[in-house]
Amino acid sequence: MIQMNDVIVIGGGPSGLHTAGLLADSGLDVKLFEKKNRIGEDILCTGIIGKEAFERFGLKEDSILSELAYMNMVSPSGTSLRYDHGKVFACVVDRKKFDLNLAHKALSCGAQIFTGTRVENIRNAGDYIEVSSFSKKRGETRHRAKIAVLATGIEYRLHKKIGLGYPKNYINGAQVELDVINGEGPLIMVGSKVAPGAFAWNIPVRKNRTRLGLITEKDAAFYLKKLVSSLYPEKVTALESEQFLSKIIAQGPVSKTYSHRVIAVGEAAAQVKTTTGGGIYYGLLCSKIAAETILRKFPTDSFELSDLSEYERSWKKAIKRELLVGYFARRTCGRLGDKDVEKLFQLAKTNGVFPLIRERGKFDWQVDLILELAKKASIPSLKTLIKI
Ligand SMILES: Cc1cc2nc3c(=O)[nH]c(=O)nc-3n(C[C@H](O)[C@H](O)[C@H](O)COP(=O)(O)OP(=O)(O)OC[C@H]3O[C@@H](n4cnc5c(N)ncnc54)[C@H](O)[C@@H]3O)c2cc1C
Repeated sequence: MIQMNDVIVIGGGPSGLHTAGLLADSGLDVKLFEKKNRIGEDILCTGIIGKEAFERFGLKEDSILSELAYMNMVSPSGTSLRYDHGKVFACVVDRKKFDLNLAHKALSCGAQIFTGTRVENIRNAGDYIEVSSFSKKRGETRHRAKIAVLATGIEYRLHKKIGLGYPKNYINGAQVELDVINGEGPLIMVGSKVAPGAFAWNIPVRKNRTRLGLITEKDAAFYLKKLVSSLYPEKVTALESEQFLSKIIAQGPVSKTYSHRVIAVGEAAAQVKTTTGGGIYYGLLCSKIAAETILRKFPTDSFELSDLSEYERSWKKAIKRELLVGYFARRTCGRLGDKDVEKLFQLAKTNGVFPLIRERGKFDWQVDLILELAKKASIPSLKTLIKI
């Protein structure tokens, strides 16, 4: 006899773990399946999260490795600018510890977490949802629940089986963590030779460790290797090619994030900042919206399409404009030639741009600032953003 659960969550990243924790905390019986053997294993992420997130989502602060209150920026020709925010605007976390904290919270609320368990199939059986999973320990098993939450990150295989949409656009990200002293502090680098279409970063995480990474529309691992060679040539030979790991990052929004008895959350729903590729904050925000929707509908078992459409309306109300404006802003800036980027650096030096960023800039809420900056820029293509 297959046991019936209230909720099955597929994927043990921040979005799945937070959703599981919130639902279990409200008394639902929640099972979470994660294909990796351990939560927090093999994660490719810089771990930068807006400071505001810790209070907003009740996150433990012991995963914080460093805080960001300023940022250096380097133009294609090497012009350097320093932006000082005046206070901490973001934190860099140890992703393993961050995810483990969310897992411990979910467990303490009563959720069950099964690691090393890959969900292979998902099927809507009318009155319930059925998933088949495989683990080395238990072999093939089947599980049933009133509703399933897909929090599978950039894996969209299950989406196709139940008619969910998936992102049409992606950008490529890559990162290495190096044991070097980054004396310059946090650094953003732009230019067609560094990270075509986007930007690179070098973020110190402890006294003698730094995270060097980039997002680009081209081959991220290739550009990362090039960047390491130019900044830390002594490190290149020590690094194996496999260490230049890259990963795609979803660029949303996705057309359909719910189906009968199923919703998608986090990067599985492309709830990822389209300017930077950061997905932790929006993943947590939309997990909360997902959990609230499920809790409202659970007492009457109302998980029809019309019931779950509320979830999509709510999360799109919260972040769709951020995703759209951010996407066009990043694409527009990414298509500027290096000469135009130099002009933007000049503009930033002279035109009251930094005071505006200080006043209006929020790490995870960028539309207002982007539109204000677009008004100031003398580059025609940026002006079109104002119409979005
Ligand atoms: C180079 C790089 C740097 C980044 N830096 C940042 C940053 O600084 N800040 C930020 O906010 N974001 C950053 N991101 C993005 C961030 O890592 C993701 O947006 C975030 O992890 C998404 O969380 P999630 O829970 O939605 O998905 P994930 O964290 O990807 O979790 C999904 C989980 O589902 C599991 N899974 C998938 N399929 C199955 C299945 N069938 N059965 C069972 N389990 C399954 C996976 O193993 C995975 O553990 C970065 C990404 C890259 C590539």
